[in-house]
Amino acid sequence: MYEHILIPTDGSDTANVAVDHAVELAAKYGAQLHALYVVDVNAVNFGLGTEQVDRIRQGNFGEMTELKEKADEATDAVVAAAADRDVEVREEVRVGTPHDVIAGYADNNDIDLVVMGSHGRSGVRRALLGSVTERVLRSTHVPVLVVDEHEETEA
Ligand code: ATP
Ligand code: MN
Repeated sequence: MYEHILIPTDGSDTANVAVDHAVELAAKYGAQLHALYVVDVNAVNFGLGTEQVDRIRQGNFGEMTELKEKADEATDAVVAAAADRDVEVREEVRVGTPHDVIAGYADNNDIDLVVMGSHGRSGVRRALLGSVTERVLRSTHVPVLVVDEHEETEA
């Protein structure tokens, strides 16, 4: 039932709590984990030009080492969490609009389950769910497990 589990991560604390759940499930079901970080082309403060976006799409971050480091840090945290658990992790860094890329990835890579945080880096809890999670829920038919950062302490 669960062979491929997708964990979209922005490297936030909440996403990392979701990572622990994803690793646990992957270990239990013998599933492969897909750790996906999306470089958000729409983030205003990136101000990326189309040429830069094209280069990054091809994995060439050029001068934008900070962007690359942030991405690697997020997916490396999944590898670290899965270490010693005999869980295979595929690290993916993509460029685009986060929810589109996440839903597209889920639909095109035989993903059986998406595990993600209720919130992310913005940390603003003005809404029940962060916008990326809300939009992923609306745009994929793959089941999504939404993990709240505080669920462990509230239990
Ligand atoms: P908002 O971005 O709407 O201001 P937020 O940052 O609190 O609010 P989201 O961005 O929706 O909330 O984050 C919820 C979850 O979505 C994260 O825990 C993570 O699992 C996933 N996510 C968010 N951004 C990305 C991204 N760029 N790449 C991969 N996964 C992401
Ligand atoms: Mn966010």
